[in-house]
Amino acid sequence: MAKGNHPEYQKMIDKQFKDLMKHCQSHMEQVEKTLPEPRENLHELLKTRGITRRDFVKWTAAMTAALMLPPMFKPMVAKAAENFSRIPVVWLHFAECTGCTEALLRSSYPNVDDILLETISLEYHETLMAASGDQAEKCLEDAIHHFKGKFICVIEGALPRGLNGQYLRIGPKGKTGIEIAKEVCKEAAACIAIGSCSAFGNIQSAKPNPTDAVSIKEAIGIPTVNIAGCPPNVVNFTGTLLHYIMFGGLPALDGLGRPIWAYGKRIHDYCERRPHYDASEYVNEWGDAGALKGWCLYKVGCKGPYTYANCGRVRFNTGISWPIMAGHGCIGCTEPAFWDTMAPLEKPLPDKSFNNREATIDNIGIALTGIAALGIAAHATATALRHKDEDQATKQEVKQHE
Ligand code: SF4
Repeated sequence: MAKGNHPEYQKMIDKQFKDLMKHCQSHMEQVEKTLPEPRENLHELLKTRGITRRDFVKWTAAMTAALMLPPMFKPMVAKAAENFSRIPVVWLHFAECTGCTEALLRSSYPNVDDILLETISLEYHETLMAASGDQAEKCLEDAIHHFKGKFICVIEGALPRGLNGQYLRIGPKGKTGIEIAKEVCKEAAACIAIGSCSAFGNIQSAKPNPTDAVSIKEAIGIPTVNIAGCPPNVVNFTGTLLHYIMFGGLPALDGLGRPIWAYGKRIHDYCERRPHYDASEYVNEWGDAGALKGWCLYKVGCKGPYTYANCGRVRFNTGISWPIMAGHGCIGCTEPAFWDTMAPLEKPLPDKSFNNREATIDNIGIALTGIAALGIAAHATATALRHKDEDQATKQEVKQHE
């Protein structure tokens, strides 16, 4: 009998989830008592945007599953969504293109995730706020003062360390990005690095990196939850905030600071072109017969086998599509230093043996997921147990291929 089906094992998992539910309920009561009233009535807002109750219930089920929680947590996910606008957020911009903000907050046909972000209690956001100069600086000081220890600091962009941080000066006092990050982050309840620039340095830190740009963690030495991607998926950001509202802590993270629920598996594992990979049916050049038939993009540079993210499962643009579905291979944008390590983007990595591909890919996978840093203890335990089972199942699957 597989361990997952053993009655004692099931009993243990059920008990852990029941304990987790109790923790979640008592934390949510605290949130409702201690944080400001919601700014928006979510259900009214959803109604005015044409989202029905049925759509919301479907979204709740999908988000619960995405967070790797059992269906009993659906009402708590719904409740957390209703309380989404209670959490004060300070959003800092450093060396970046504002693409993450654009991707997350601009949606022609918004779904529940997009609307949740509209309700977010943004106390400071340079791109969206009307204030500028001294007024903007005052907004930031007030937000830190009023919500000390309670706000979430979201950071977009890398931090240049060259010339003592002087490649990036912001605001009327001309403070460096490093100075601002140090001042704000130490007062936050938690720091979320949104996008691969703040999480890993991204293109600003690609060779030769003249400004010595690095991730937030490397620049100021604080732990961050890394919502990697260029840009990241809105679901991974809202899911992380919902988890925080529900449990009062951050989700279990992998060795690179990414939430395991969102980045625990490879693009290759969720890919709809995977049966063609297994059958050795490849696109050899753009526009060939294989491309027309939707075959695997490995030979034209897809880095899905080396990249951990849930893009294929949650997709982009209200779930309509994602790069591989649209015919372009994954470029590995959720991995550190991908501009240097995944290039050339249109070719397979030169040192990987195509004949021994599964073995190579599996070794990389094991190396990347080997160390899991844990966030909230209870959820982490349940998640880790679940992953252990999944890892074993994946290994068995790989063995069958070999
Ligand atoms: S190599 Fe890329 S296109 Fe092919 S199955 Fe893997 S992720 Fe999909």
